[in-house]
Amino acid sequence: RPDIPAQLVDGLNPPQREAVEYRGDALLIVAGAGSGKTRVLTHRIAGLIATREAWPSQILAITFTNKAAAEMRERVGQLLGDSVEGMWISTFHSACVRILRREAERFGYPQGFTIYDSADSKALMKRIVKSLEAESLGVTVPTALNRISSCKNELIDPDGFARKTDLTNPREQLILEIYRQYQRELQRNRAFDFDDLIAQTVWLFRAHPDIAALYQRRFRHILVDEYQDTNHAQYALIRELTRPVAAENVPLDTRIQLAADGSIPPASLTVVGDSDQSIYAFRGADIRNITEFERDFPGAKTILLEQNYRSTQTILDAANAVIGNNFDRRVKNLWTSAGSGKQIQGYAGRSAHDEAQFVADEIHRIHGTGVSYNDMAVFYRTNAQTRALEEILIRAAVPYRLIGGTKFYERAEVKDIVAYLMSIANPNDELSVRRIINSPKRGIGPASETTISNYAADNDMSFREALRQPDAMGFGLKIRNAVAELAAALDEAEASCNPQRPTGAVPVATMLERLIERIGYIEKLRATGNPQDDARADNVEEFVNVAKEYDKQNPSGNLVEFLTEVALVAAADDIDDESGVVSLMTLHTAKGLEYDTVFITGVEEQLLPHKMSADEPGGLAEERRLFYVGITRARKLLHLTMAMSRTQYGETAPSLPSRFLDEVPNELIDWKQSPAEVLSAPMMRGGGGYGGSSYGNSSYGGYGRGGGRGNSELGVARGSGLKQSFKPTRGNRTFDNQVTGKVKDNSALELASGDRVRHTDFGEGTVRAVLGVGTKRIAEVDFDTAGRKKLLIKIAPLEKC
Ligand code: ATP
Ligand code: MG
Repeated sequence: RPDIPAQLVDGLNPPQREAVEYRGDALLIVAGAGSGKTRVLTHRIAGLIATREAWPSQILAITFTNKAAAEMRERVGQLLGDSVEGMWISTFHSACVRILRREAERFGYPQGFTIYDSADSKALMKRIVKSLEAESLGVTVPTALNRISSCKNELIDPDGFARKTDLTNPREQLILEIYRQYQRELQRNRAFDFDDLIAQTVWLFRAHPDIAALYQRRFRHILVDEYQDTNHAQYALIRELTRPVAAENVPLDTRIQLAADGSIPPASLTVVGDSDQSIYAFRGADIRNITEFERDFPGAKTILLEQNYRSTQTILDAANAVIGNNFDRRVKNLWTSAGSGKQIQGYAGRSAHDEAQFVADEIHRIHGTGVSYNDMAVFYRTNAQTRALEEILIRAAVPYRLIGGTKFYERAEVKDIVAYLMSIANPNDELSVRRIINSPKRGIGPASETTISNYAADNDMSFREALRQPDAMGFGLKIRNAVAELAAALDEAEASCNPQRPTGAVPVATMLERLIERIGYIEKLRATGNPQDDARADNVEEFVNVAKEYDKQNPSGNLVEFLTEVALVAAADDIDDESGVVSLMTLHTAKGLEYDTVFITGVEEQLLPHKMSADEPGGLAEERRLFYVGITRARKLLHLTMAMSRTQYGETAPSLPSRFLDEVPNELIDWKQSPAEVLSAPMMRGGGGYGGSSYGNSSYGGYGRGGGRGNSELGVARGSGLKQSFKPTRGNRTFDNQVTGKVKDNSALELASGDRVRHTDFGEGTVRAVLGVGTKRIAEVDFDTAGRKKLLIKIAPLEKC
């Protein structure tokens, strides 16, 4: 047994200690919430390094968020008494970006390829769906995005999809065509979407065993936190990385102990997880990855942890009781030595505002007892619930921060600046150039944009290259000059960050400041006199600060790396422990975190469990796990709240207490106002909306610094304004009416029964019948070898013989 320094195992309980000390190919740690899984993983890494069993660079640790990664890295450093360089501790996405950037050349992408976030993907998808008139066949943008995302999570590429799906169904044909066009556009823009990052890495490894071998031999120890939420693609990635390296791929100078046949043995794999906290099935997470671990990795050791170090017995009892209603789970026996602690606080509000008022009052009360705002969090099932919460918190002067939701980086003005940087880093990224072509306004309208796009297509050049030739496009003087100036501004910026310059590349922030100055982005916003534009200008300045901070932290960094960081900031990464604010977030975002005081709001039928879950197999069980995750975030005090009526989409309707509330033993909850009390009490000012009586009774206003501070359209003028903006200033610029590339459209093809046709995949055949009209015409074709098929003429790769 390795001699692990005492400070790494002292204070651990026996199974935790065993998990840190175990040595073998595969280790599974399954345990309930708060039992120290993440802690064990951290100590294990430190142990491997301290005993010199591994170099830091031989470790790959996967966490669920970038924030968790940063914490783990820091913790390992603390444990070893020294910061450690060269370890890869990151999310799946970050690790894959690093690999893809390193190997970009092998698949014909520039190192600076673009990463599309969900808003970018949506903008692209909107164009495709519109150009194919897909909505008339019931394929909406979200449908298409979901289908494609599921495919990628399952490692199914368009060809695989074509093999697998029922292509006699016109809707499936359409989705296939959308998938193909979507991938073609990504490829043309030299971009990947989020799901691609993982899938493309797996495909890269499979297509290039020599590249795979590089990473198989580099990473000797792979550790994965939150393993229950890995999807198939992530699982496949782990499988690729834990293959033995065949002797022919082993270089002579390897420092690794070789197997008898000269091969390199597989990396050791440690995964930790909790099936009861699997909450991402809708994104393809597959709980089987954990339940079948022992089968997938024969000889694997399993360790169970049962002592919870996070919560009081009351909170654990509630959690255990709730999750006990799920079937086919391994029964766990979580216990704590923390004592029973305080009862759970229950509150049924008359309305969502009443509920929110209770939350605000409680936060004030608890803050008054000396608890920092940082140690409190409010959770909800859907983002729509934040509106009432935010209104009341602002009035009650509770400092808060929305985690996730519309994030800083999703604001239109921030996306504009990022798009400028993308255009500079990756000149092929047409989507980005088009985003900023008239932002700030410079008189280049959609028609001019189309002219440029067509010119680029006709001359086989990128959109950005075309900008450099405004004289060739017949523009009037004003537009011509605007285009020329934009091209020059981008070129100047690109040149200034070229490391080959005699004076070297300028720092990212310097380049950015010059660019913003030259295009007048902030100046124009400030000039409008509109306070919203002022808030936007503030955001742009804040973004410049982000760049400055980056330059400071990474003296040898560059634009591409900066953009990578920006693209990967995940929801939970906005959390800033210093700032003294209450955190508001969805239950999904709360995973892995812990707070002294937790409020779970909206514990109602239709919300939690969410109404959509009723239609999906296993949906209810997943909602229950989500509730379990929420409960187990609390260390000392848990609140469960609901509203007896709720307004959604302008309609106020009564709501029922969640069935999950019935699953919490009665004696654990102390109802400050129970659902029954609300129902039996006389209405003072009518039911829903603002009128709830206890809203009037509450201490709202009593703080003497309440009302009038918030403004629903503007950032709140407290703190930075940026972080506490109340309502996002969202851009509504889309690219709907601008079609790039050549979208194949066969709808003009005249076909009649008896015609002979040729199909790219199915070969020749005879048309039997033509059904439907216009863009929805369907041809029924008897192919000579492929049999009878129904094809949507508009998109079928079909021609007459
Ligand atoms: P989750 O399932 O929510 O991710 P987890 O199993 O990863 O939880 P940790 O976050 O590692 O649990 O631990 C929960 C809390 O208990 C942390 O604050 C951690 O520092 C503490 N903890 C874990 N083990 C011990 C221990 N042996 N002694 C003292 N504190 C511990
Ligand atoms: Mg954890």
